[in-house]
Amino acid sequence: MFPGLLCIIQICFLPSQLCSLFCLETRLKVMDDKPDPGTLSENSEVLFSFGVIADIQYADLEDGYNFQGNRRRYYRHSLFHLRGAIEHWNGEGSPPRCVLQLGDIIDGYNAQYKVSEKSLELVMNTFQMLKVPVHHTWGNHEFYNFSRNYLTNSKLNTKFLEDQIVHHPETVPSEDYYAYHFVPFPQFRFILLDAYDLSVLGVDQSSPKYQQCLKILREHNPNSELNSPQGLSEPQFVQFNGGFSQEQLNWLNEVLTFSDTNQEKVVIVSHLPIYPEASDSVCLAWNYRDALAVIWSHKCVVCFFAGHTHDGGYSEDPFGVHHINLEGVIETAPDSQAFGTVYVYPDKMMLKGRGRVPDRIMNYKKENAFQL
Ligand SMILES: [Zn+2]
Repeated sequence: MFPGLLCIIQICFLPSQLCSLFCLETRLKVMDDKPDPGTLSENSEVLFSFGVIADIQYADLEDGYNFQGNRRRYYRHSLFHLRGAIEHWNGEGSPPRCVLQLGDIIDGYNAQYKVSEKSLELVMNTFQMLKVPVHHTWGNHEFYNFSRNYLTNSKLNTKFLEDQIVHHPETVPSEDYYAYHFVPFPQFRFILLDAYDLSVLGVDQSSPKYQQCLKILREHNPNSELNSPQGLSEPQFVQFNGGFSQEQLNWLNEVLTFSDTNQEKVVIVSHLPIYPEASDSVCLAWNYRDALAVIWSHKCVVCFFAGHTHDGGYSEDPFGVHHINLEGVIETAPDSQAFGTVYVYPDKMMLKGRGRVPDRIMNYKKENAFQL
């Protein structure tokens, strides 16, 4: 039945307020049921798509609550959410080119119960069902469970999926941080960033890098509990966050310079968000301003995907970059979902959210749209 007709019929039987609510709900449902994203954009065709999912935080535990005690966490059910997402992506008529896993794949509780490896194996076995490559980002919960050294040698290191640009050695990332770039479709470059490049998590406490990072953290956070943002003018300086080294930012700048020159569109992925309007300030990367300064000095970046915040968020910055913080799987009720597929068009990207992930339209900067 057409939504408008349904609405007219209901006017006869329902009080007006209830009716408009009913109509809105009906329209949303009809939007949600739209089977083909092509119908959302009648004048252009989908070039390719990719999947996004964040903060699975699996643990074989009963449900719990977040630190503030106001959000329920479904530790065990998160694996079923992941399975549902994978079944969905595998079943798409035109499968996504890849899936971006935005970090915090298993919960820190696994370390406490000494089951980190077992839980990681279970989640990775589930990912094996996925018929397309998955790119793994590292978040704070990775470092609660494993050292950086362990992660580098684990299946969570997907750097082998990187693309290298011939004759441009400046675009090759250093081994000192976990970042790389790849091209899932011609003229579209994806860059995976290491938001814990500067961090006290996962690094040997006797190393100079640990001492350097602890110094940065203490300079901005005088609290004895370094996970507490209490009283901070820059509340992102907490132990559960991290930042980008100058070396990594220089590398990012080189890759974006290449993309600008070659008229590529760029998608950036990081566990930590960098734009305050799209995120709770306590969740931002330590030196988010430095990352924004690099991105804003280029025209090629379309969007920046992050996890970590669980509640989700979105904002387009003044330079036309779309910042999307994906809703976390871990705080998603069993009767809902939390993942999305991004459909890429010549002039925009469209996030089709599932469950509590809303749809988003991300137009390219006008002067920068492809001329087809
Ligand atoms: Zn996180």
